Amino acid sequence: MLNPRNSLNFSGGPGVLPESVLLQVQQAISAVPEVGLSILGISHRSDWFAAVVAELEDNIRRLLGLSSEYSVLFLQGGATQQFSMIPMTFLHGKSQPAEYLHTGYWSGKTLPEARREGSIKVLWSGADTGFKRLPRNDELEFSPEAPYLHYISNETVEGLQFQRVLGREDVPRICDMSSDFLSKPCQAERFALIYAHAQKNVGPAGVTVVIMRQSLLNYARTDLPGFLDYRTQMQAHSIYNTPPVFAMYVVLLVTRWLLHEIGGVANMAHLNQQKAQLLYRLLDNSDGFYRAHAETPDRSLMNVCFNLPNLETETRFLQAASAAGFSGLKGHRAVGGIRASIYNALTLPAVEKLCEFMDAFQRL
Ligand SMILES: *Cc1c(COP(=O)(O)O)cnc(C)c1O
Repeated sequence: MLNPRNSLNFSGGPGVLPESVLLQVQQAISAVPEVGLSILGISHRSDWFAAVVAELEDNIRRLLGLSSEYSVLFLQGGATQQFSMIPMTFLHGKSQPAEYLHTGYWSGKTLPEARREGSIKVLWSGADTGFKRLPRNDELEFSPEAPYLHYISNETVEGLQFQRVLGREDVPRICDMSSDFLSKPCQAERFALIYAHAQKNVGPAGVTVVIMRQSLLNYARTDLPGFLDYRTQMQAHSIYNTPPVFAMYVVLLVTRWLLHEIGGVANMAHLNQQKAQLLYRLLDNSDGFYRAHAETPDRSLMNVCFNLPNLETETRFLQAASAAGFSGLKGHRAVGGIRASIYNALTLPAVEKLCEFMDAFQRL
């Protein structure tokens, strides 16, 4: 049995997981059926775990339609480690600046890490306008000389999401998809490198998925420590040192759920659109009581960020929501307000319940 509060968890991260997955995890803590041992005490060198890694990689390939030109890696250190590992590998020693976008809180964290390794050009920044929107195409001028372009597909804190692929076909695109990975089809093969930690949309904290076109390594620095070298990790099939066995197993269960219960990322996208539409419609029809943070075309389908008339009302809203069984609705500490994160595993009925609650709260 699971606590019903799990289904009303709108946390920004670590996020909600599918109930069927949590039930399997509960059983696996006691004993993985095929092995007869707790998931917390199975060797990463076992045949069983090798099969877990192989199936997990295969499932991600199937969900995104990846060819054999791409490697799928499972690394540690979160998305934050990728903020450094990418410029260490692909920017260090280059004469031309890499291009970065500054579209919100998390992309702001990528800039100083890249600057440690080389020069970057910030093509566009939303900092002066409070990160309420994303750049339009006519505001972006991409250079063919850049070693790579880096951006974040979904700004988790502000609730801004690109609904298109950016950049040039002849410059490697590198994208942090931590908070919308596997939420929709993403034209994965137009990217040279995609990274996403598990804990927003596809699993618990501890593992980060890195999808890389192998030819990108032709431009990679070769004198990095083994642990920080994509080649080493690739050669070791993500088992260079002890990997996060538990986290990877849970992500495997989530990919099985996506494939077999949801029926793939296109179906997932359809559901996610329905969920987001309910909430945004409620905000838009509230006569200004609930004010969406993001401008309409750039609204995130994963993180719905909004404000109430004043701080006092927001505090009362959070208290009432908590009393009604909802969790995780407090906005990120950097921006305040309210954030309803509606990741893959947050169900349509849970969003309907939140909408009913919000409607009633407004009428109080
Ligand atoms: C949460 C988040 C991060 C931070 O990830 P860590 O795994 O905690 O390092 C980075 N990027 C995005 C888009 C995020 O949402």
